[in-house]
Amino acid sequence: MDTFEADAVVIGAGAVGLACARALALKGREVLVLESASAIATETSSRNSEVIHAGLYYATGSLKAQLCVEGRRKLYAYCALHGVEAHRCGKLVVAVDDEEAAATPALLKRALANGVEDCRLVDGAEARRLEPALSPEVRVAIHSETSGLFDSHAYFLALQGEFEDRGGALVFDTPVLQGAVTPKGIDIVTGGASPSRIQARTVVNAAGHHALGIARSIDGGPRYDGLRMHWVKGSYFVASGRAAFARLIYPMHNSATQGLHLAIDLGGRTRLGPDAEWLQDDAVPPFDYVVDPARAVHFYREVRRYWPALKDGALSPDYSGVRPKIAARGAPSADFVVDGPEQHGVQGLVNLIAIESPGLTSSLALGELVADIAT
Ligand SMILES: Cc1cc2nc3c(=O)[nH]c(=O)nc-3n(C[C@H](O)[C@H](O)[C@H](O)COP(=O)(O)OP(=O)(O)OC[C@H]3O[C@@H](n4cnc5c(N)ncnc54)[C@H](O)[C@@H]3O)c2cc1C
Repeated sequence: MDTFEADAVVIGAGAVGLACARALALKGREVLVLESASAIATETSSRNSEVIHAGLYYATGSLKAQLCVEGRRKLYAYCALHGVEAHRCGKLVVAVDDEEAAATPALLKRALANGVEDCRLVDGAEARRLEPALSPEVRVAIHSETSGLFDSHAYFLALQGEFEDRGGALVFDTPVLQGAVTPKGIDIVTGGASPSRIQARTVVNAAGHHALGIARSIDGGPRYDGLRMHWVKGSYFVASGRAAFARLIYPMHNSATQGLHLAIDLGGRTRLGPDAEWLQDDAVPPFDYVVDPARAVHFYREVRRYWPALKDGALSPDYSGVRPKIAARGAPSADFVVDGPEQHGVQGLVNLIAIESPGLTSSLALGELVADIAT
């Protein structure tokens, strides 16, 4: 087995790993990204809504709230600078019954406390003036003007290009198997065609679904006793026909998981979802990403609450993703786990666990935070 030294190793080339690699490279670090797949962003980073979230929903003061708001501002600026398509189309969070209408001011208050700009309550008539296809049942809505969509794959390529331009290297087909804390840093053992031992000064574990397992495989690192992963699959459907909306439409209903939302994607398709299907407790990655056509029944019912003109037979299954959660079903949503030396005491190691939504929106801010703490 070959052994060599590295300055900073990032495990995983999804949105988060790539953003960490970029931020480390911008700080002058020599970065090596190890990716088990044969291409960048083939897991959760290519199985999401590509929504740039404003930051409405997350507990004030949480990492999710802070990094989403900061990351969103940075992401729009980054897209403009690097020629990545981004569409600040705005979003309406719609309430269609008394209970939802009553919950709307609290969500707006939280959004404002989180520092979300250009966000206000509109009545049903104003919501339908903005989006005429909305149901007459819509009583009130939150109009968030800074929400949008972007071409995440162009963004990933821009991140990759940026850190490679600064001397960084990305190696595919190289799964990290285990590691060990040493007096000089962290040793990483890789598999694949050329198994190696890499002695790194800094290791950032951004392995998505595998991050907790990798963290636990590092001898001398934190054990995370009591932490366990829960997996929530989100399926999408597409609706045939011309796009009936210009903005993102999110139901107030079930706002904790942001409900079954509607987006006109950058290709002009009307995309609905994701829903939330809690997988069996013993489920382990890799997951079955096939979308069950039978789930359409629930999509028709939920989406027609705000879009009654959705025609029978219009929906076809599209793709799915799986959310990595550390909060069990029914428990309040948990924050991102960004665990650096200050938390676990191991110099040079940062574990990123349960980076679910809004991880894509937050990625630039998260990368910069990690580069700051990964000394
Ligand atoms: C259904 C759904 C919808 C979402 N919608 C949005 C949205 O609209 N907006 C938003 O901001 N966020 C959204 N998110 C969240 C966002 O997609 C994730 O937070 C983000 O993609 C996580 O990126 P990551 O790099 O942590 O993980 P991943 O993209 O999963 O990347 C992890 C990488 O690590 C690699 N890897 C794993 N194990 C190893 C190993 N042993 N060795 C080497 N490499 C390894 C994997 O191959 C993979 O490339 C959504 C998530 C889901 C599931």
